[in-house]
Amino acid sequence: MKDELTKKIREACFTCTLCGACCSGADNEVMVSPDEVEALMQETSLSFSEIAEPYPDWMESPDGTKITFGWVLKRGADGNCLFLRDNRCTVYASRPHICRTYPFMLDGDELIISECPAVGCGDSADAEETADALFFRRDAEDKEFFATEKQYQKHSIVSGSTVVIDSRGIHRQNTI
Ligand code: SF4
Repeated sequence: MKDELTKKIREACFTCTLCGACCSGADNEVMVSPDEVEALMQETSLSFSEIAEPYPDWMESPDGTKITFGWVLKRGADGNCLFLRDNRCTVYASRPHICRTYPFMLDGDELIISECPAVGCGDSADAEETADALFFRRDAEDKEFFATEKQYQKHSIVSGSTVVIDSRGIHRQNTI
């Protein structure tokens, strides 16, 4: 399984050129788990709410209740990731799983490759390491998904409230 994935990553001939495109612009949402935000809090001394904001895909009910699941990294005033400076990641050692594995992701066992100008232009020298990171990311995301689902099932949500649900519980608007 790992050998097969490593081979596919090698065949993608990807080497990051530090263009910064995947860290910039309004279309690139970086989903982060509470564990990942905590790692960034430790590295930067920023608070949770300075680093992350609710995932912007809200489920809205006729009674005014608004629910979303999980968090994304905040952007700076320039619209780019908060941690991007001169096309470099300033939190490289603690960067989230999505950033570690971009432009790759796993859908089950299938390798998905996002659009990226560096695909086809390099040698995928760290293919084996990327394969490990992809398996680690998939396990972490599955764990986060099932724990979030449990939180959703076990809590009742006050009608008309605005909440974010994650693996750790329910966060009401005034605490976000
Ligand atoms: S955390 Fe680093 S790698 Fe991830 S989007 Fe921000 S600047 Fe880019």
